[in-house]
Amino acid sequence: MRLDVLTIFPEYLEPLRHALLGKAIEQKILSIGVHDLRQWATDRHKSVDDTPMGGGPGMVMKPEVWGPALDDAAAGAGPVAETLDLTTASPHLSAPRHDDLAGVDTQTYETGDEDRSKPLLLVPTPAGKPFTQADAQAWSTEEHIVFACGRYEGIDQRVVDDAANRYRVREVSIGDYVLIGGEVAVLVIAEAVVRLVPGVLGNQSSHQEDSFSDGLLEGPSYTKPRSWRGLDVPEVLTSGNHALIDRWRRDQSLLRTRAVRPELLDAVELSAADRRALEQG
Ligand code: SAM
Repeated sequence: MRLDVLTIFPEYLEPLRHALLGKAIEQKILSIGVHDLRQWATDRHKSVDDTPMGGGPGMVMKPEVWGPALDDAAAGAGPVAETLDLTTASPHLSAPRHDDLAGVDTQTYETGDEDRSKPLLLVPTPAGKPFTQADAQAWSTEEHIVFACGRYEGIDQRVVDDAANRYRVREVSIGDYVLIGGEVAVLVIAEAVVRLVPGVLGNQSSHQEDSFSDGLLEGPSYTKPRSWRGLDVPEVLTSGNHALIDRWRRDQSLLRTRAVRPELLDAVELSAADRRALEQG
């Protein structure tokens, strides 16, 4: 997978070099280019913004800067081709991590029937469609994703409209709140997407059981010791009875979902045992 990020704060994207993403870079599963948008600014001050048409507060990012930058990112040309890719922040040991499981099938998500001849352009904006785990799954099979980080009041809308000639464009929000810029949203989206790329997580089953994968929130997790500060791990987890443990986990997942995100239950197909758990819980 190839990621290109256009931003006026390239240093904000430094976390993409760390931990599992850094390891994916090292394994050549992932390559990332972070590009300073000001390289496409043409005036003496390298300005990327201007006052809003029609008046109002703040500044809007200029189309004459974003247009050529996105053209180059789609084509891998100009300053985009000249930027060095991110390297991993720290070399990772070739030994498997403790949760790497031999023989666990890697899961690739469906690519759907969308024409993928154009790269995907993700434009973070609070006015976009909410980003979901289903998006992360779908995008985990993309070959090339370009991210356009807005600042100020955002990017001139014509940039997004024009980009549709070269990209499949998605305006996405990471939540109902307003950030200062798109960089943090890119970190969120990139991490959620890349961890689903086959080979990135040591133990594939860990994301197959994650919250949202089956439409529910995941229930609580425990590790050793069995007793800590007077609190015991639920007894069923020490029983060794895997059918019972699976049922308990499903019940916990249902009960937590009902308590925290009851609307999610509407979209889930419930078995008789699920209904019983909800009635009794
Ligand atoms: N004027 C815009 C509005 O009200 O919709 C907000 C612009 S915001 C201050 C600046 C930039 O931060 C946006 O262009 C976008 O890149 C990013 N941003 C802010 N909140 C976001 C969110 N919830 N999801 C994704 N990106 C966000």
